[in-house]
Amino acid sequence: MRDQWTPGAAGALARLDDFLAARLTAYADTRDRPDLSGTSALSPHLRFGEISPRQIWAALDQACAGDLAARGPESFSRELGWREFSYHLLFHQPQISHRPLRSQFENFPWQPDAEALRAWQRGQTGYPIIDAGMRQLWHTGWMHNRVRMLVGSFLVKHLLQPWQAGEEWFWDTLVDADPASNPASWQWVAGCGADAAPYFRIFNPVLQGEKFDPDGDYVRRWVPELRELPSAFIHKPWEAPLLVLRATGVSLDQTYPRPLIELSFGRDRALAALKSLSSPQAESV
Ligand SMILES: Cc1cc2nc3c(=O)[nH]c(=O)nc-3n(C[C@H](O)[C@H](O)[C@H](O)COP(=O)(O)OP(=O)(O)OC[C@H]3O[C@@H](n4cnc5c(N)ncnc54)[C@H](O)[C@@H]3O)c2cc1C
Repeated sequence: MRDQWTPGAAGALARLDDFLAARLTAYADTRDRPDLSGTSALSPHLRFGEISPRQIWAALDQACAGDLAARGPESFSRELGWREFSYHLLFHQPQISHRPLRSQFENFPWQPDAEALRAWQRGQTGYPIIDAGMRQLWHTGWMHNRVRMLVGSFLVKHLLQPWQAGEEWFWDTLVDADPASNPASWQWVAGCGADAAPYFRIFNPVLQGEKFDPDGDYVRRWVPELRELPSAFIHKPWEAPLLVLRATGVSLDQTYPRPLIELSFGRDRALAALKSLSSPQAESV
């Protein structure tokens, strides 16, 4: 963690300068790629008031010579806007870390399971992109936004664990753990927040991994026991032929777990649980 962060205003300003000079232009295209350093990593600095959104906005405006509608600046300023929106929600709904904004979710039939929660926390679910994210969090106190969405969806939907359990773990482990953005984002993921991702939109961690970590570099960095696997299997080691597993030193259940849950089973179970509240259409992304 010490290697990763330089707490304080000077560290925040250095990050901002570096981001504006090197990553702003491509931000809209790279911000969803956990294998690249496409985002600002300003969140802990914002969280602790080491830099303010107004300071960032002014520097952004200057860096793009007032063209805030250009792709990179527009996309980046939108994310700052989400943070403001979360604070707006927290101000008006101070209970958001515990209670769903959409009240019908108070009766959601979660299936609390301490073992499943622990496997998720430890990065031992058998889904490489999920495990990479949870280990990145443990080692650095930070996780890429796209992966936060994936680990959140996996916990809440495939594992049917209450979103509050994920919110609490993030609260304990994130260096940017924020009283507004954390619960607002978890409620967004769970489908019970303001402007929420619909509950029936269930991320598939294999397809998402292949899309946003196409060569598997992010997984290789955080799940080193899979490092030698060819890219074709890096997001689904259980599909690799035995010969490939042997040649790359992977032994399922010994060096790396088999999937904790079968994806279509988890998805169907989540949709059935949701049906007890309403009857939406399924959607796979
Ligand atoms: C389940 C879940 C939990 C989250 N918990 C937190 C949290 O506790 N603290 C936190 O700061 N962010 C949280 N986020 C939002 C987002 O993941 C982080 O703000 C972002 O990853 C921080 O990295 P960055 O500074 O490089 O972001 P950049 O992409 O560089 O964005 C710049 C700034 O905009 C703000 N921002 C970006 N995305 C969001 C967003 N979706 N919602 C609100 N603000 C955003 C952050 O302050 C960020 O520093 C969470 C997202 C999810 C899906």
